[in-house]
Amino acid sequence: MTTTVAVFGSCNMDLVAYVGTAPKRGETVLGREFHTVPGGKGANQALAAAKAGAAVRMIGAVGEDDFGAEIRAVLQKSGVDVRGLRTVPGRSGTAHIVVDDEGGNSIVVVPAANAALDALADGDEDLIAGADSLLLQLENPFSGVAAAAAAGRRNGVRVVLTPAPAAPLSADLLSKVDLLVPNEHEAAVLAGAEDPHRALAALLELVPEVVITLGARGSLYGDRTGTWVEVPSFPVDAVDTTAAGDTFVGVLATALGEGAEVPEAMRLASAGAAVSVQRAGASSSMPTRAEISALLAAGH
Ligand code: AMP
Repeated sequence: MTTTVAVFGSCNMDLVAYVGTAPKRGETVLGREFHTVPGGKGANQALAAAKAGAAVRMIGAVGEDDFGAEIRAVLQKSGVDVRGLRTVPGRSGTAHIVVDDEGGNSIVVVPAANAALDALADGDEDLIAGADSLLLQLENPFSGVAAAAAAGRRNGVRVVLTPAPAAPLSADLLSKVDLLVPNEHEAAVLAGAEDPHRALAALLELVPEVVITLGARGSLYGDRTGTWVEVPSFPVDAVDTTAAGDTFVGVLATALGEGAEVPEAMRLASAGAAVSVQRAGASSSMPTRAEISALLAAGH
């Protein structure tokens, strides 16, 4: 059964420089290579879900520049429905990314057009209402994220929030979230506890279901009925962890929407993220469903 995923979120052009060691403040280093590739947490999650087999609707905003046209084209090429993607005056969002030789990254995001996504536009609620899941992140104005979450809840759609970049969240927004998917850092900020198990228990006071992603250490799920699931990551050589978390969420929502149980959905999500960390870039690294299945079949 094909599941439908709506994404309300950011679209950026990633400007990626590869270096041996990232520069410290005041330091200049020579990079090895540079490329541009569409990204942004919203677009990344949309592409990951589409490539994993979901019917995806993207609600977002790009600028009137060439970057905006390229982002739109990449989403369309992957079959994403872009009726909810507006073009607004000014520049598209950009992410300025430095990737080091260990595959670690540091990122500056300039939101630009993403700042225009501060409310629902005509037609957005219909796009959300017809979906099984709604994926949200925090790279757009809070008012827009809150309006989308409310629309999701009103229409009985599973609301999945990636609380990134880490920020304090209102009780009102959290009351409309079904599944929260922070990474370890975001979980610690939201829960006020460093230990992932303790953070997860604290976050379950706020939302009914939580997955904390733990990088190369895998992921941890809990819900209010007392179910806990720990899934290890796949042992692979990471070259670029950009968008590993977004790939995880896109695949997770797709699998859950198809009816998979949580442990199975987490294994698929982990396999998808493991494929993505072996490749450079955000949108360029998302795996197809066949690639995810092949890694699972390899029997790790
Ligand atoms: P993160 O956002 O870094 O917590 O990563 C999200 C998910 O991607 C993790 O839960 C893992 O399943 C996967 N992942 C991240 N880094 C690696 C890695 N180095 N090797 C394999 N899988 C990874």
